[in-house]
Amino acid sequence: MLRDGFGRRISYLRLSVTDRCDLRCGYCMPEKMQFLPRREVLSLEELYHLSLGFIARGITKIRLTGGEPLVRRDMPDLLRALGRLLGAHGGQGRLDELTLTTNGTQLAGFAGQIADAGVKRINVSLDTRDPALFARLTRRDRLADVLTGIAAAKAAGLRVKINTVALKGLNEDEIPELIRWAHGEGHDLTLIEVMPLGEVDEDRVDHFLPLTAVRQRLEEIFTLQENGHSSGGPARYLTVAQTGGQLGLISPLTNNFCASCNRIRVTATGQLYPCLGGGERVDLRAALRSDAPDANLALALDEAMRIKPERHHFDISARGAAPAQPRHMSVTGG
Ligand code: SAM
Ligand code: SF4
Repeated sequence: MLRDGFGRRISYLRLSVTDRCDLRCGYCMPEKMQFLPRREVLSLEELYHLSLGFIARGITKIRLTGGEPLVRRDMPDLLRALGRLLGAHGGQGRLDELTLTTNGTQLAGFAGQIADAGVKRINVSLDTRDPALFARLTRRDRLADVLTGIAAAKAAGLRVKINTVALKGLNEDEIPELIRWAHGEGHDLTLIEVMPLGEVDEDRVDHFLPLTAVRQRLEEIFTLQENGHSSGGPARYLTVAQTGGQLGLISPLTNNFCASCNRIRVTATGQLYPCLGGGERVDLRAALRSDAPDANLALALDEAMRIKPERHHFDISARGAAPAQPRHMSVTGG
């Protein structure tokens, strides 16, 4: 079993399958983002092998992410292969949930295959439904594709959660309307605070919006009730009485949730980062490509548990300050 030095049981793996993306969200990456050479990225077989190793050590939930996972060409094969592991026992574990986070641009073409693989729910990131603002935030004019993708996911029977980064002076005023729209469509919506990860072309301080302030404003419009729900991630959930839908809040800056952390992340090159906000790292690709992959993988996971820090130390208050980590969220896996 995976248990870290602070007694936290680790059961949730976020696995990045690529660092590439077809959007360029301003808070996530610079316009001229340097992507990794393809040969550095784990193969489908390696991702599968790795997943087996994690399940054997008690990982019960795997989220595929990136970068944009749906830009990877063999994604349907990977989904099918991992989908077959759902419910299967291996070592001390059993995979209970396979899911993914996507920007939705290519979802229309993949929704059926995602559902067929056994995925029940997905997260789709959407910060605005205004086409001009979408084009400004993502530097690509793809809102129509994303909305078609979300509709296709719903039609395929997938439960959709919308992830929205709250951005001061950008989508701030649209948040109530986004909630009404998402809940009207039967989707939950989770708001996220922007985190200082990797250099981008802007200063994130300019658009950082604390969710404490957002919640106050929302409470002038809606009745919000804490409902104690957990989806196994860092969000705290509220029910919006007027819509009947769920609103999640992920607030790493204003409400630290590290004490209940159950997650680890693996980059597309097989680097395990036990904390999104820390530099600690274990090289799983080296273990996988060694003479004794299973034994070395097990040792590497033990080491990851040993070095997982107690908490992150994000701070986004000072203009011009360096990010907490040089790695972009698209590299570590969001
Ligand atoms: N490309 C996919 C997507 O956008 O859903 C998956 C990867 S993306 C890195 C995962 C999530 O991280 C998205 O919801 C995105 O908005 C969020 N994200 C990216 N950079 C972030 C940052 N610096 N702070 C907070 N959230 C960020
Ligand atoms: Fe791409 Fe997701 Fe980053 Fe936007 S947030 S640039 S969609 S990886």
